Amino acid sequence: MKVKEYLPAIMLWLVFEIIAVVLWLALDNIFYLLNFTYIGSAIAIGLILYTRKQKHARNIVQLAVGLYMLLYLGIICRENMQIEGFWYYLFLGVFEAATIHYAVAKIFGPLLFGRGWCGYACWTAMVLDFLPFKKPSSPRKPLGFIRYIVFAVSLIFVGSLFIFKVVNKDEIMWWSFIVGNIIYYVVGIVLAYKFKDNRAFCKYICPITVFLKPMSYFSLMRVKVDSEKCISCGKCEKACPMNVEILNNSRKRKNGTECIQCMQCVEECPKKALKI
Ligand code: SF4
Ligand code: SF4
Ligand code: SF4
Repeated sequence: MKVKEYLPAIMLWLVFEIIAVVLWLALDNIFYLLNFTYIGSAIAIGLILYTRKQKHARNIVQLAVGLYMLLYLGIICRENMQIEGFWYYLFLGVFEAATIHYAVAKIFGPLLFGRGWCGYACWTAMVLDFLPFKKPSSPRKPLGFIRYIVFAVSLIFVGSLFIFKVVNKDEIMWWSFIVGNIIYYVVGIVLAYKFKDNRAFCKYICPITVFLKPMSYFSLMRVKVDSEKCISCGKCEKACPMNVEILNNSRKRKNGTECIQCMQCVEECPKKALKI
Protein backbone atom coordinates (compact mmCIF):
# COMPACT_ATOMS: atom_id res chain seq x y z
CA MET A 1 0.00 0.00 0.00
CA LYS A 2 1.46 3.35 -1.05
CA VAL A 3 0.67 6.09 1.47
CA LYS A 4 0.88 8.65 -1.36
CA GLU A 5 -2.19 7.14 -3.01
CA TYR A 6 -4.20 7.77 0.12
CA LEU A 7 -2.98 11.35 0.65
CA PRO A 8 -6.15 12.99 -0.78
CA ALA A 9 -8.30 10.97 1.67
CA ILE A 10 -6.02 11.82 4.59
CA MET A 11 -5.87 15.53 3.64
CA LEU A 12 -9.64 15.79 3.24
CA TRP A 13 -10.21 14.02 6.55
CA LEU A 14 -7.80 16.45 8.24
CA VAL A 15 -9.61 19.47 6.75
CA PHE A 16 -12.93 18.20 8.13
CA GLU A 17 -11.32 17.41 11.48
CA ILE A 18 -9.93 20.95 11.75
CA ILE A 19 -13.39 22.34 10.98
CA ALA A 20 -14.90 19.94 13.55
CA VAL A 21 -12.52 20.95 16.35
CA VAL A 22 -12.64 24.70 15.57
CA LEU A 23 -16.46 24.77 15.56
CA TRP A 24 -16.67 22.57 18.64
CA LEU A 25 -14.40 24.88 20.63
CA ALA A 26 -15.68 28.16 19.14
CA LEU A 27 -19.37 27.35 19.62
CA ASP A 28 -18.89 25.18 22.71
CA ASN A 29 -21.05 22.46 21.18
CA ILE A 30 -19.79 18.89 20.84
CA PHE A 31 -22.35 18.24 18.10
CA TYR A 32 -20.06 19.96 15.59
CA LEU A 33 -17.15 17.70 16.54
CA LEU A 34 -19.27 14.58 16.00
CA ASN A 35 -21.05 15.90 12.92
CA PHE A 36 -18.00 16.96 10.92
CA THR A 37 -15.94 13.98 12.11
CA TYR A 38 -18.67 11.66 10.80
CA ILE A 39 -18.97 13.47 7.45
CA GLY A 40 -15.18 13.78 7.00
CA SER A 41 -14.66 10.11 7.88
CA ALA A 42 -17.41 8.95 5.50
CA ILE A 43 -15.88 10.94 2.63
CA ALA A 44 -12.34 9.77 3.46
CA ILE A 45 -13.46 6.12 3.59
CA GLY A 46 -15.21 6.61 0.23
CA LEU A 47 -12.01 8.02 -1.28
CA ILE A 48 -10.03 5.08 0.07
CA LEU A 49 -12.57 2.65 -1.42
CA TYR A 50 -12.33 4.52 -4.72
CA THR A 51 -8.53 4.30 -4.63
CA ARG A 52 -8.92 0.56 -4.07
CA LYS A 53 -11.16 0.47 -7.17
CA GLN A 54 -14.41 -0.39 -5.39
CA LYS A 55 -17.09 0.11 -8.03
CA HIS A 56 -19.72 1.65 -5.78
CA ALA A 57 -17.45 3.78 -3.58
CA ARG A 58 -19.20 7.04 -4.51
CA ASN A 59 -22.70 5.63 -3.95
CA ILE A 60 -21.62 4.39 -0.52
CA VAL A 61 -20.46 7.88 0.49
CA GLN A 62 -23.60 9.45 -0.96
CA LEU A 63 -25.77 7.12 1.12
CA ALA A 64 -23.67 7.51 4.28
CA VAL A 65 -23.69 11.32 4.20
CA GLY A 66 -26.98 11.94 2.36
CA LEU A 67 -29.11 9.69 4.57
CA TYR A 68 -27.49 11.10 7.72
CA MET A 69 -28.32 14.64 6.66
CA LEU A 70 -31.79 13.91 5.30
CA LEU A 71 -33.08 11.50 7.95
CA TYR A 72 -31.13 12.42 11.08
CA LEU A 73 -30.44 16.15 10.77
CA GLY A 74 -33.45 17.01 8.62
CA ILE A 75 -36.30 14.82 9.81
CA ILE A 76 -35.30 13.74 13.33
CA CYS A 77 -33.43 16.90 14.47
CA ARG A 78 -35.78 19.12 12.42
CA GLU A 79 -33.01 21.20 10.86
CA ASN A 80 -33.99 22.59 7.47
CA MET A 81 -30.77 22.08 5.50
CA GLN A 82 -32.28 23.17 2.20
CA ILE A 83 -31.77 26.66 0.85
CA GLU A 84 -34.84 27.90 2.79
CA GLY A 85 -33.12 26.81 6.00
CA PHE A 86 -30.04 28.78 5.03
CA TRP A 87 -32.09 31.97 4.53
CA TYR A 88 -34.03 31.30 7.72
CA TYR A 89 -30.97 31.02 9.96
CA LEU A 90 -29.31 33.89 8.15
CA PHE A 91 -32.31 36.19 8.85
CA LEU A 92 -32.36 35.02 12.46
CA GLY A 93 -28.69 36.02 12.67
CA VAL A 94 -27.81 32.54 13.93
CA PHE A 95 -24.55 30.96 12.81
CA GLU A 96 -25.45 27.31 13.23
CA ALA A 97 -26.89 24.28 11.43
CA ALA A 98 -27.81 25.30 7.89
CA THR A 99 -25.63 28.43 7.80
CA ILE A 100 -22.55 26.45 8.86
CA HIS A 101 -23.45 23.66 6.47
CA TYR A 102 -23.72 26.12 3.58
CA ALA A 103 -20.52 27.92 4.52
CA VAL A 104 -18.53 24.66 4.63
CA ALA A 105 -20.08 22.60 1.82
CA LYS A 106 -21.46 25.13 -0.60
CA ILE A 107 -19.81 28.53 -0.27
CA PHE A 108 -16.20 28.32 0.96
CA GLY A 109 -15.56 24.56 0.64
CA PRO A 110 -15.90 24.68 -3.18
CA LEU A 111 -12.80 26.88 -3.29
CA LEU A 112 -10.92 23.77 -2.22
CA PHE A 113 -12.93 20.75 -3.43
CA GLY A 114 -15.18 22.27 -6.10
CA ARG A 115 -18.60 20.67 -6.27
CA GLY A 116 -17.53 17.62 -4.28
CA TRP A 117 -20.76 18.13 -2.33
CA CYS A 118 -22.72 17.34 -5.49
CA GLY A 119 -20.73 14.24 -6.26
CA TYR A 120 -20.50 12.66 -2.80
CA ALA A 121 -22.94 14.07 -0.29
CA CYS A 122 -26.13 15.58 -1.71
CA TRP A 123 -29.23 13.63 -0.68
CA THR A 124 -31.11 14.62 -3.84
CA ALA A 125 -28.39 13.33 -6.17
CA MET A 126 -28.00 10.28 -3.90
CA VAL A 127 -31.32 9.08 -5.35
CA LEU A 128 -30.94 10.52 -8.87
CA ASP A 129 -27.63 8.73 -9.38
CA PHE A 130 -29.40 5.35 -9.10
CA LEU A 131 -31.54 6.14 -12.17
CA PRO A 132 -30.50 4.56 -15.49
CA PHE A 133 -29.32 7.65 -17.43
CA LYS A 134 -25.75 8.05 -16.16
CA LYS A 135 -24.35 9.44 -19.41
CA PRO A 136 -26.39 12.25 -20.99
CA SER A 137 -27.38 11.25 -24.50
CA SER A 138 -28.13 14.75 -25.82
CA PRO A 139 -26.61 18.25 -25.44
CA ARG A 140 -27.65 20.49 -22.55
CA LYS A 141 -30.87 22.43 -22.87
CA PRO A 142 -30.89 26.23 -22.42
CA LEU A 143 -32.86 25.91 -19.19
CA GLY A 144 -30.24 26.92 -16.63
CA PHE A 145 -32.12 30.18 -15.95
CA ILE A 146 -34.70 28.19 -13.94
CA ARG A 147 -32.23 27.83 -11.06
CA TYR A 148 -32.26 31.62 -10.54
CA ILE A 149 -36.06 31.65 -10.39
CA VAL A 150 -36.09 28.86 -7.78
CA PHE A 151 -33.36 30.70 -5.86
CA ALA A 152 -35.39 33.94 -5.86
CA VAL A 153 -38.62 32.15 -4.87
CA SER A 154 -36.92 30.51 -1.88
CA LEU A 155 -35.54 33.88 -0.74
CA ILE A 156 -38.90 35.64 -1.16
CA PHE A 157 -40.70 32.80 0.66
CA VAL A 158 -38.50 32.97 3.75
CA GLY A 159 -38.22 36.77 3.62
CA SER A 160 -42.03 37.03 3.63
CA LEU A 161 -42.24 34.97 6.83
CA PHE A 162 -40.18 37.66 8.54
CA ILE A 163 -41.73 40.69 6.84
CA PHE A 164 -45.26 39.56 7.71
CA LYS A 165 -44.18 38.39 11.17
CA VAL A 166 -45.64 34.94 10.64
CA VAL A 167 -45.80 32.89 13.83
CA ASN A 168 -44.64 29.25 14.05
CA LYS A 169 -41.81 29.86 11.60
CA ASP A 170 -39.96 26.84 13.03
CA GLU A 171 -42.86 24.55 12.21
CA ILE A 172 -43.22 26.08 8.72
CA MET A 173 -39.52 25.54 8.05
CA TRP A 174 -39.77 21.87 9.05
CA TRP A 175 -42.73 21.30 6.76
CA SER A 176 -41.05 23.23 3.95
CA PHE A 177 -38.09 20.84 4.31
CA ILE A 178 -40.36 17.80 3.97
CA VAL A 179 -42.50 19.22 1.14
CA GLY A 180 -39.48 20.78 -0.62
CA ASN A 181 -37.64 17.46 -0.67
CA ILE A 182 -40.65 15.59 -2.01
CA ILE A 183 -40.98 18.19 -4.81
CA TYR A 184 -37.23 17.99 -5.57
CA TYR A 185 -37.34 14.19 -5.82
CA VAL A 186 -40.45 14.15 -8.02
CA VAL A 187 -39.17 16.92 -10.34
CA GLY A 188 -35.67 15.37 -10.41
CA ILE A 189 -36.95 11.91 -11.37
CA VAL A 190 -39.44 13.23 -13.97
CA LEU A 191 -36.74 15.39 -15.61
CA ALA A 192 -34.24 12.53 -15.59
CA TYR A 193 -36.66 10.36 -17.57
CA LYS A 194 -37.78 13.22 -19.82
CA PHE A 195 -34.24 14.26 -20.81
CA LYS A 196 -32.68 10.79 -20.33
CA ASP A 197 -30.19 12.44 -17.99
CA ASN A 198 -29.87 11.61 -14.26
CA ARG A 199 -28.43 15.04 -13.51
CA ALA A 200 -31.00 17.18 -15.37
CA PHE A 201 -32.28 18.55 -12.04
CA CYS A 202 -28.75 19.64 -11.09
CA LYS A 203 -28.23 21.30 -14.47
CA TYR A 204 -31.44 23.29 -14.71
CA ILE A 205 -33.35 23.51 -11.42
CA CYS A 206 -31.20 23.30 -8.31
CA PRO A 207 -30.96 26.76 -6.66
CA ILE A 208 -27.86 25.83 -4.67
CA THR A 209 -25.81 25.97 -7.85
CA VAL A 210 -26.17 29.76 -7.67
CA PHE A 211 -23.58 29.52 -4.85
CA LEU A 212 -21.75 26.45 -6.08
CA LYS A 213 -20.98 27.50 -9.63
CA PRO A 214 -19.09 30.78 -9.05
CA MET A 215 -17.19 29.41 -6.06
CA SER A 216 -16.14 26.20 -7.81
CA TYR A 217 -14.73 28.27 -10.68
CA PHE A 218 -11.73 28.88 -8.38
CA SER A 219 -11.54 25.30 -7.09
CA LEU A 220 -8.10 24.01 -6.18
CA MET A 221 -9.15 20.47 -7.10
CA ARG A 222 -9.82 20.20 -10.84
CA VAL A 223 -9.61 17.44 -13.42
CA LYS A 224 -6.83 18.24 -15.86
CA VAL A 225 -5.64 16.53 -19.00
CA ASP A 226 -2.04 15.69 -19.83
CA SER A 227 -2.00 16.48 -23.55
CA GLU A 228 1.19 14.43 -24.01
CA LYS A 229 -0.69 11.26 -23.06
CA CYS A 230 -4.12 12.08 -24.55
CA ILE A 231 -5.02 10.38 -27.84
CA SER A 232 -8.25 12.41 -28.31
CA CYS A 233 -10.49 9.35 -28.19
CA GLY A 234 -13.27 11.42 -26.59
CA LYS A 235 -14.28 8.68 -24.11
CA CYS A 236 -13.93 11.01 -21.12
CA GLU A 237 -16.27 13.72 -22.42
CA LYS A 238 -18.81 11.12 -23.51
CA ALA A 239 -18.83 9.65 -20.00
CA CYS A 240 -19.12 12.96 -18.15
CA PRO A 241 -22.56 13.31 -16.54
CA MET A 242 -22.20 17.11 -16.47
CA ASN A 243 -21.04 17.79 -20.05
CA VAL A 244 -17.74 19.32 -18.96
CA GLU A 245 -15.28 20.25 -21.72
CA ILE A 246 -12.64 18.10 -20.07
CA LEU A 247 -9.96 18.35 -22.77
CA ASN A 248 -9.62 22.08 -22.20
CA ASN A 249 -7.59 22.80 -19.06
CA SER A 250 -8.67 26.43 -18.83
CA ARG A 251 -10.89 27.51 -15.94
CA LYS A 252 -13.16 28.99 -18.60
CA ARG A 253 -13.83 25.62 -20.21
CA LYS A 254 -17.43 24.93 -21.15
CA ASN A 255 -19.45 23.76 -18.15
CA GLY A 256 -16.27 23.88 -16.06
CA THR A 257 -18.25 24.94 -12.97
CA GLU A 258 -20.51 21.91 -13.39
CA CYS A 259 -17.85 19.35 -12.50
CA ILE A 260 -19.01 17.23 -9.54
CA GLN A 261 -15.63 15.50 -9.06
CA CYS A 262 -17.20 12.10 -9.79
CA MET A 263 -14.02 10.79 -11.48
CA GLN A 264 -16.01 9.02 -14.17
CA CYS A 265 -13.78 10.60 -16.83
CA VAL A 266 -10.62 9.49 -15.05
CA GLU A 267 -11.93 5.91 -14.93
CA GLU A 268 -12.83 5.90 -18.63
CA CYS A 269 -9.50 7.22 -19.92
CA PRO A 270 -7.52 4.39 -21.53
CA LYS A 271 -4.26 6.37 -21.35
CA LYS A 272 -4.43 7.59 -17.76
CA ALA A 273 -4.18 11.11 -19.15
CA LEU A 274 -6.55 12.68 -16.61
CA LYS A 275 -5.83 13.54 -13.03
CA ILE A 276 -6.93 15.89 -10.28
S1 SF4 B 1 -26.71 20.52 -8.08
FE1 SF4 B 1 -28.09 20.60 -6.32
S2 SF4 B 1 -29.29 18.71 -6.41
FE2 SF4 B 1 -27.53 18.44 -7.75
S3 SF4 B 1 -26.05 17.46 -6.46
FE3 SF4 B 1 -25.61 19.66 -6.35
S4 SF4 B 1 -26.75 20.37 -4.57
FE4 SF4 B 1 -27.55 18.34 -5.09
S1 SF4 C 1 -16.72 13.06 -15.40
FE1 SF4 C 1 -14.91 14.23 -14.85
S2 SF4 C 1 -15.26 16.32 -15.59
FE2 SF4 C 1 -17.23 15.24 -15.61
S3 SF4 C 1 -18.14 15.73 -13.65
FE3 SF4 C 1 -17.07 13.82 -13.35
S4 SF4 C 1 -15.02 14.43 -12.64
FE4 SF4 C 1 -15.99 16.25 -13.49
S1 SF4 D 1 -10.33 9.54 -22.48
FE1 SF4 D 1 -8.18 10.06 -22.10
S2 SF4 D 1 -7.18 9.73 -24.04
FE2 SF4 D 1 -9.36 9.81 -24.48
S3 SF4 D 1 -9.77 11.97 -24.97
FE3 SF4 D 1 -10.11 11.74 -22.78
S4 SF4 D 1 -8.15 12.26 -21.85
FE4 SF4 D 1 -7.75 11.88 -24.00
